[in-house]
Amino acid sequence: MGTIKKILITLATLAHLPCIAQDTLLENITIVDVEHNQLLPGQFVLIHGATIGSITSKRPEGLAADTQTLNLANHYLVPGLFDMHVHLATDPSETDALPIVKKKLEILLKNGVTTVRDMAGDVRQLAYLARQASLGEIPSPDIHYSALIGGASFFDDPRTKVSSKGFSSGRAPWMLAVTPDSDFDLVVAEARGSGASGIKLYADLTAELASSVLNSANKLGFPVWGHAAVIPAMPQDLVSNNITSVSHAPLLAWASANDTPTSGKQRYDKVELNVSLPAFQQLLGKMAAKRIYLEPTLKVFEKRRPAAFANGVMVTKAAFEAGVPILVGTDLSADINRPAYVPVIDEMLLLHSHVGIPSNDVLMAATIHPARMLGIDHEVGEIKQGFRANLLVLDANPLEDLNNLKKVTVVFKNGKRID
Ligand SMILES: [Zn+2]
Repeated sequence: MGTIKKILITLATLAHLPCIAQDTLLENITIVDVEHNQLLPGQFVLIHGATIGSITSKRPEGLAADTQTLNLANHYLVPGLFDMHVHLATDPSETDALPIVKKKLEILLKNGVTTVRDMAGDVRQLAYLARQASLGEIPSPDIHYSALIGGASFFDDPRTKVSSKGFSSGRAPWMLAVTPDSDFDLVVAEARGSGASGIKLYADLTAELASSVLNSANKLGFPVWGHAAVIPAMPQDLVSNNITSVSHAPLLAWASANDTPTSGKQRYDKVELNVSLPAFQQLLGKMAAKRIYLEPTLKVFEKRRPAAFANGVMVTKAAFEAGVPILVGTDLSADINRPAYVPVIDEMLLLHSHVGIPSNDVLMAATIHPARMLGIDHEVGEIKQGFRANLLVLDANPLEDLNNLKKVTVVFKNGKRID
């Protein structure tokens, strides 16, 4: 170890600062440049601290003496993956107790998922986990999470009760019921004050209520992530009021239906879908123009609701063709009994094989698009100098076959090697 580095480490220790980690050089690796849909072979990627220090086509000079070198000829480097729909804290007292959730997070990270978006749960647990994840105190993807807003009748749902224990139903700052009498600016401020980075618009909302929440959130520049229909409000109500992202592609099919569901319980019933209907195409055109993201969550419907799955596939295909930006999310997170498996890869495979989205665009939906949607695309989602080193090393080309995303050699999160 060099003298200067020794001194710096001593100073860092004295000042209770994090130690300066050893640099790592990834030699002769092929970068999958997702933004430009190309492979860059023979690259040298220097990981310095938490970030990518340099990317060069020759071995860099002036390396620190203790730099660890990994020769990765015939290996591929992709940005860490995002799963934009998980639930990590629905019931922290039971099914989502900390040891279980931490195990799931570790499985996600070891299989290459470096960022997740939680789509409603107990924010007290989510804030605790998100802090530990961002500081590297637990092996975990970074966690972004939402505060849920729904119509008053939705708060009979037992999930909302266990996610807000200690509060009366619909009154926790992260599980808020709204009525026509609500002060919507205050509701949105309360949701934001809970520490969430977006609102999840869930269910039992009229078009008027949904638009009131969206107007208040838009004024504050606070993102709103909704179900694609928050029945009785329909997809067109959300899109015309500038929602940020919509989840569950089968719900978008309601925009082509003649009737509307009479209750939220019918939301995944078979809808006669007509993707060429002008009104439906107009909706997709608006989503594309406004950059409103669609998160299809196909995997969760595949076996359980085949009719909804079939609609979801057609809706997603039409949306992709219309230029709607797609996000990869599962609504499934991980399974503690399957340490080598993450459903996010299955979701990506479905988007490719069933919907027909080219491999590189699928990768974009799991990296660059979610980073942009979350407003963190200046630091993650791509392999660039100065970006955080959230990286996945594979021993086969994912553009040839997305199944190769399962062939993980090593994962880096904030520059730290995850073994
Ligand atoms: Zn969900």
